[in-house]
Amino acid sequence: MFKKSKKIYEDAKKYIPGGVNSPVRAFKSVDLDPIFIEKGKGSKIYDVDGNSYIDYICSWGPLILGHSDEEVLDGIDHILKNGTSFGVPTEIEVKMAKLIVESYPSVDMVRMVNSGTEATMSALRLARAYTKRNKILKFEGCYHGHSDSLLVKSGSGAITFNVPTSPGVPDYVVKDTIVCKYNDLESVEKAFNEYGDDIACIIVEPVAGNMGVVPPIEGFLEGLRDITSRYDSLLIFDEVITGFRLSYGGAQQEFGIDPDITCFGKIIGGGLPVGAYGGKKHIMSNISPLGDVYQAGTLSGNPLAMNMGYNLITKLKDNRNIYKELEKKAIKLENGLNDIIDNLNIDCHVNRIKGMICLFFGKGPFTNYDDVKECDTEKYSIFFKKMIEEGILLPPSQFEGWFITYAHSDEDIEITIEAANKALKNTYNI
Ligand code: PMP
Repeated sequence: MFKKSKKIYEDAKKYIPGGVNSPVRAFKSVDLDPIFIEKGKGSKIYDVDGNSYIDYICSWGPLILGHSDEEVLDGIDHILKNGTSFGVPTEIEVKMAKLIVESYPSVDMVRMVNSGTEATMSALRLARAYTKRNKILKFEGCYHGHSDSLLVKSGSGAITFNVPTSPGVPDYVVKDTIVCKYNDLESVEKAFNEYGDDIACIIVEPVAGNMGVVPPIEGFLEGLRDITSRYDSLLIFDEVITGFRLSYGGAQQEFGIDPDITCFGKIIGGGLPVGAYGGKKHIMSNISPLGDVYQAGTLSGNPLAMNMGYNLITKLKDNRNIYKELEKKAIKLENGLNDIIDNLNIDCHVNRIKGMICLFFGKGPFTNYDDVKECDTEKYSIFFKKMIEEGILLPPSQFEGWFITYAHSDEDIEITIEAANKALKNTYNI
């Protein structure tokens, strides 16, 4: 089934650490070798051996409309022929910034970067400079990219590979990173009681999407807004996953919260490398060359990513029905999985909010990192393998969300549920 992939992997291992350019692609935690992909169209992805899968990785989020959407790709040929990077500004950067500012009331100005990691790293620098404080507060199991000060008790591949705090991150860097429990305001109050006047910001995934999917409990985000305001600290929403996904206006619209800085990522590039951070004018105007907080990028705002992102976001703006559809599909999948869980009487649990969903191998409830850590990852691995045999590509880790797109049809969801029924029976020897 994976002959060509295996051959490429043998070569890949010689030249690339672990054979992959990002750890979760290795499929190591599910005890498989990676598959190498040839192409994707709509909800489907095709590997080099000619196997096709209904895809729930979907590039980890940006492909809200599925792979190779014609409207998202519109105009790309023209750009390819007329220059892909100039090192001087282009008009599409301005159109893109205007579109984001008009869509997010909390964002008066926005700066483009090349990844989510750069967006959060730059947002922290800005928050520290603006408040003239050094400490930052993050939550266990939240992932904000791999910059040093945020790679502490981190989610995503960092939990998957059991290195939530990476070697190579010096103690003097993380001494200013305070880590609290997600969905636990008491732990945040305690930290602020002790260090409040030194805390520059709280950074949070408003819906945690890097320890599976863990929504905020009622009052959690409101509590973070309140406490940061009381202490003149900034609230940073990392909406790299939720921005333009949970709803058009992201989690801040959904929960009615007004953060000081918002980080965006992959989605605003429609599948090309991008990130951005934006916020209130009095904060953003501290960034160079307007202010003296330095942050730069040779390829930032490059025309290819801007154009694809602009096409995607414009389509989402003009067709809000997409969000209803994403949720409808996620509910259909949730109901299907819950029926199987009930029928088989197994300890599995579905977490879902809007179009974001995942299946935990444990009884639940799952509201924070401690809960999620207790999941049976061996069972997830058996389940994953069986699903791949059935033509369903899930994230190769228990600690990631499943990405549903507008391109997933009702039939795709039905096939997925049927496959999950077989795979769960197999996993639990039923
Ligand atoms: N923040 C969040 C919430 C993310 O999910 C991710 C990546 N999955 C990042 C930041 C980092 O983004 P990137 O991989 O583009 O650096």
